Amino acid sequence: MANKFTFYNTLNRKIEEFIPREEGKVSMYTCGPTVYHYAHIGNIRTYIMQDVLVKALGYAGYDVKRVMNITDVGHLSSDADTGEDKMLAGAKREHKTVMEIAKFYTDAFFTDFDAVGNKRPDVVEPATNCIPEFIHMVEVLLEKGFAYVAGGNVYFDTSKLDDYYVFSSDVEKEQLQVGVRDDVEEDTNKKNKTDFVLWFTKSKFEDQALKWDSPWGVGYPGWHIECSCISMKHLGEYIDIHCGGVDNIFPHHTNEIARSESYLGHEWCKYWFHSNHLNDQSGKMSKSKGAFLTVSLLKEKGYDPLVYRFFCLQSHYRKPLVFSFEALDQAAATFGKLVKRVAELKEDGAVDEAVKAEFETKFREALSNDLNTSMAITILYDVLKADTNDATKIALVDSFDKVLSLDLLAHAKALGDDKKGIDPELEAYVLDAIERRANAKKAKDFATADAIRAELLEKGVEIKDTREGVKWQLI
Ligand code: AMP
Ligand code: ZN
Repeated sequence: MANKFTFYNTLNRKIEEFIPREEGKVSMYTCGPTVYHYAHIGNIRTYIMQDVLVKALGYAGYDVKRVMNITDVGHLSSDADTGEDKMLAGAKREHKTVMEIAKFYTDAFFTDFDAVGNKRPDVVEPATNCIPEFIHMVEVLLEKGFAYVAGGNVYFDTSKLDDYYVFSSDVEKEQLQVGVRDDVEEDTNKKNKTDFVLWFTKSKFEDQALKWDSPWGVGYPGWHIECSCISMKHLGEYIDIHCGGVDNIFPHHTNEIARSESYLGHEWCKYWFHSNHLNDQSGKMSKSKGAFLTVSLLKEKGYDPLVYRFFCLQSHYRKPLVFSFEALDQAAATFGKLVKRVAELKEDGAVDEAVKAEFETKFREALSNDLNTSMAITILYDVLKADTNDATKIALVDSFDKVLSLDLLAHAKALGDDKKGIDPELEAYVLDAIERRANAKKAKDFATADAIRAELLEKGVEIKDTREGVKWQLI
C-alpha cells in the first residue's frame, strides 16, 4: 500500500491528503511547452518541480502514469484568444515552416528537460495529432448547448456554468471580472467576455499555415481545447492530478475545467498542482520578451545543468524564485562541497537496514509535506553527519537520489577518478591553499591571493576559477 502524501491543491486552496481514484495509482496530466521558441530556465523550473512530484509519489509507493501535450498550434500571444498566433510568429521570425519550428523547438525542449535530470512523461502528444478528437469534443459541446457559432468561429458559452471561476475566492472572482472586462480586446462575436474560442474558421491570420476541414469550415483549434482532449485520449474520463505553472490557472486551467466537465457531465480532476515562477531581477521571465536564459546556455557558460536543478530544489515550489548568477554560483559551490563529502564515503561493510529505513521515512515525510524539497536536502546532510557507517550513507544517498536526481554518486565517482593516485597530504595542502586564497579574495587582498596561486604553481599545481568553483590539477 502506498504511503500518505499531502500537497497544496489549488482547487480547494489548501494542503490536502492525496487520495487517488484507484488505490496505489496516479493518473497525471501536465501542460506541455508551446514550441515556438526555446524553453527558458523558468519553464524548466516548472518541469523540475513536476518531476520531483512524480518521483516523490513514486517514492511514497504510487505507480504514476503521466501524459503531456506539446502545443504546436492555436496558442495566441494572449491566453485570452487575442494577439498573434505564437507558432506563426516563430515561423516568420526564422523564415521556416510552422512544422519545422515545432520539430526544432520540441527537440531543443527535451535536450534541456533531460539535462536537468527529469524523467520523460509516459506519453507526449503534439496537439496537431489530435484534430479529430478536438472536432468531436466541439460537436458534443454544441449538441449539449455549451457552445455556439458566431461570425464563423465556435465559442464556449461560459454563462451556461454555475461557477466558471472555480479556482478563485469570492474576492478574486470580483477582481478577475474587472480584469477580464478591462484587458481583453473586444471580440464582438462573444456573448460573454469570458467566452473562449473552441474552433477558429474566421481568422485574422489569412496566412495561418495549419488548417483542417471541420463541420464549421476550414480552420484550426483554439488553444485550451487540446489539454482536455489529450488527457481523455490517454487517461480516460478522470485524472487525479493536473499540473502547470501559476500563470496557467487563469484562463487556461479554468477553461479546461469548464470544457471537460461540460463535455463529460461529471467532475474531471480533483487535485491541481501549480508551481510558482522563476523571476529575474527585472521581473517574470518570459519567452515573448525575446532574450532569455536556457539550460543549454547555462551549460555553455560552464554550469552543470544539475546545479540548476539543485538551485531549484533549495526553495519551495509555491514561492517565486529570483534567479541571479550570484545565487547560481552559490548553489554551484554548495553542490561541489556536497559531492566532495559523498566522494569521501568508503564502502565499509553491511548496510544498517534499520537506520536506512528510519532516514527513508523522514525523507518521504518531508516530500509528503507539500513537497518540502529543501527539508529533503537537509535530511541528506543529516545522513552525511549521522553516526552510522559509510555503506549505509552511500545506500541512502542512492535512495534519495531516486527523487532528487542530482546524480550524486556518479559525480562523486568522477571526482574520485580525477584525483586518483594523488598524495592525500598534497591534496589536503591544495584544498587549504584554495580556501586561504578564497578568504584573501573576499577581503579584497588580491596580492595574497596571487601569491597563493604562484605558491601552488611552484609545487606543480594549477588552479582554475570556474562557475562550479575552483578546480585544480597537477601540471
Ligand atoms: P509555455 O511554453 O509558455 O506554454 O510554458 C510552459 C510551462 O512553463 C507552463 O506550465 C508555464 O506555466 C510555465 N512557465 C511560464 N513562465 C514561467 C516562469 N517564468 N517560471 C516558471 N514557469 C513558467
Ligand atoms: Zn494545458
